[in-house]
Amino acid sequence: MLDVIKLLPDSVANQIAAGEVIQRPASAVKELMENALDAGATQIDLVVKDAGKSFIMVTDNGCGMSETDARLCFERHATSKISKAEDLFAIRTMGFRGEALASIAAIAQVELKTRRKEDEVGVRIINEGSVVKEQSLVPMQPGTTFSIKNLFFNVPARRNFLKSPQAEMRHIVEEFTRVALMNPETSFTLTSDGKEVYHLYSGNLKQRIMGLFGSNYEEKLLPVNQDSERVCIHGFIVKAEYAKKTRGEQYFFVNKRFIKHAYLHHAIENAFMEMIPKDCFPGYFLNIEVDPADIDINIHPTKTEVNFLDVKLVYAILHAAVRKAIGQHNLSPTIDFTETPDLNIDFGEASKASRPLVMPNVPVDEFYNPFRQTASSQDFKPKSYEFSQHSDKPSGDWRQHYGERIDLPFKKGVESDTDGDKPENSHYLQVNQSFILTTVKSGIMLIDQQLAHTRVLFEKFLKQMENHNGASQQELFPQAMTLNLNDASLLKELLPELENIGFVLEQANPTTFMINGTPTDAAGCEPVELLEKILDNYKINRTDLQLDRKLDLAKSLASQLSIKAQTKLSELEMQNLVDQLFACNVAEVAPNGKKIFAIISMDDISNFLNLKS
Ligand code: ADP
Ligand code: MG
Repeated sequence: MLDVIKLLPDSVANQIAAGEVIQRPASAVKELMENALDAGATQIDLVVKDAGKSFIMVTDNGCGMSETDARLCFERHATSKISKAEDLFAIRTMGFRGEALASIAAIAQVELKTRRKEDEVGVRIINEGSVVKEQSLVPMQPGTTFSIKNLFFNVPARRNFLKSPQAEMRHIVEEFTRVALMNPETSFTLTSDGKEVYHLYSGNLKQRIMGLFGSNYEEKLLPVNQDSERVCIHGFIVKAEYAKKTRGEQYFFVNKRFIKHAYLHHAIENAFMEMIPKDCFPGYFLNIEVDPADIDINIHPTKTEVNFLDVKLVYAILHAAVRKAIGQHNLSPTIDFTETPDLNIDFGEASKASRPLVMPNVPVDEFYNPFRQTASSQDFKPKSYEFSQHSDKPSGDWRQHYGERIDLPFKKGVESDTDGDKPENSHYLQVNQSFILTTVKSGIMLIDQQLAHTRVLFEKFLKQMENHNGASQQELFPQAMTLNLNDASLLKELLPELENIGFVLEQANPTTFMINGTPTDAAGCEPVELLEKILDNYKINRTDLQLDRKLDLAKSLASQLSIKAQTKLSELEMQNLVDQLFACNVAEVAPNGKKIFAIISMDDISNFLNLKS
């Protein structure tokens, strides 16, 4: 018998391997750009033609290669990065141990020009289908240029498999974006068919995001900074109000390598909770730094997936980091902070400005409201707005953040030396029995009363569910609620949460529940109707996730119980409502994602007046 085993020629082996690493022009772009970064480049220029199908060129000003290295780099398993692969860059270089250039050369015509600083001239090598065709010396700047012509010229099947130029170009832009995002200190350009598409200057991450996505991102971004022992997270999230209906700016990196991670994406969605409407997606640009030992590298090299050894920990830290960023944003919105000294009102500790009036040395809670305690609960709903403050959220000083400009001589003393008298000066006005108008330093604030109250109740219910402390009101005449078997079992699923917010329900038989108590906030509501609506909503949004269930329940109750538009509110009710709104974790947006208030700036007002006159 003859021996049958033959060794494949290198060119064939490389071609096979190439299929794994280089699937489309964008894969070559990614490899060449990463090599340029690894070479320490501070300027990287990418030029493509026909969406990379006929031409890709990457020029860098990195360390360059010696003549020998320039020949060697096309060999399989030729790499200078083994030592790096084992430490910090383990994840970046994993699986690519010297395969990229060999793969590209196997399926394209490659021209390499490279020069080290210490060399007088550069070397130029032409490699076609893994065969060196030419070698010569060239005068050039230090650095490296790879030009790739006719990708897949010898693999027609692959070539035919490529998508439309637009689709392939999108892939290239995406790879370019991912690399550029995590390397903001490096300058990049991208030129496509002779047109410069991107010109990115060296800067910080925020500037890089603006360079890639538009300078209007300046106001859209919230910084995220979280350092903990095993996981550090840095970057930006896009404010809730700019969430998009299409998936888009969702960039996770692990140790600067782009990844996709549905579970971690969920952490961010959850952190935004109800602030983003259901059909919108949060935007983020986040780098997660972990010890390479904490990631499982036993996965396919070209895939953008990664396994964390302790993914729950990463989830929790990510969630907390994003919550914190959102919370901080809501404490200091980007609205006019400029001080007007003569109108400065002393807010006690919060303000360091000297007071024009010397007040008696009485500790005064600026927002202490003498009516809150005395008013009876039946009189008006806002009494029930009271819920424990979040500890990191100073109550009442929200005006600080919008810059109060209310000239109120009585303000300081009135609440401490009148007992229960209503301030005669009004600083809340109701418009059309639907909007609350008040002044802030930067202009006029208009608040949608229904949305504001929905937000207040929503956070209150959520908190009660967490703390199991919803206040309940006994029903004098318990009502029976009879349901079909299906609905009865759904109601049972919701029972723990319902009880936490103040419902007292007792199952009398498989299909009947006695309603013995209702939440105090639901006073005056028909409890059976209320529960039916909750059930209806639950049927639509049914979920196994406990957190989502709580959110849905709180949302549905809050929207049912909130005061509606076209409801007259007293001055005090308005004040209570507004105070409670700004004590919320998120004051800006209602649970349905709608904006709760708007500020009409002084400029807007003068423009408006000029227009009229
Ligand atoms: P890897 O990046 O995994 O080492 P590659 O095939 O991408 O494998 O590159 C092989 C080697 O060629 C690299 O290790 C590096 O030494 C060298 N090289 C590639 N591109 C450049 C470049 N732009 N500048 C300097 N050296 C480079
Ligand atoms: Mg490489």
